Amino acid sequence: MADLQELYQTIIMDHNKRPRHYGPLEPFTHRAEGYNPICGDKIELRLNVAGKQIQAIQFESACCAICKASTSMMVDALQGKALEEIGSLRQQVDQYLQGGGEEIGDADALDSELAALSGVSKFPARVKCAQLPWQTLEKALNRGEAD
Ligand code: ZN
Repeated sequence: MADLQELYQTIIMDHNKRPRHYGPLEPFTHRAEGYNPICGDKIELRLNVAGKQIQAIQFESACCAICKASTSMMVDALQGKALEEIGSLRQQVDQYLQGGGEEIGDADALDSELAALSGVSKFPARVKCAQLPWQTLEKALNRGEAD
């Protein structure tokens, strides 16, 4: 288990240092800002959705390492995904954040970098930081098409 924790930490640190799909997306159809007052995390998501599929999603942030890594991993996982796939991905992330990653074998954990979030479950104060991008995504999509 120690090795797995190390791997999780490496993945999170890597996404924090080299965030994927970072910067303002143009053009975009959906956007939302997220704010976590407990930590002070601020993020902005922009998506380009067409044919019920995420064509592209990017973010900008002024937030802590966990929030930035979680957002980077989320946008990385969502490129090209159908909107209907989001629900199950988010459920998976919530499971990881509740420490569900422990029952998942190493092979599966490597299959998705999102599994690294199960390392965050040991720090309850940080779980909200990791959830912020998913809440912001929901907000952006519920808002409907931008004009
Ligand atoms: Zn934070």
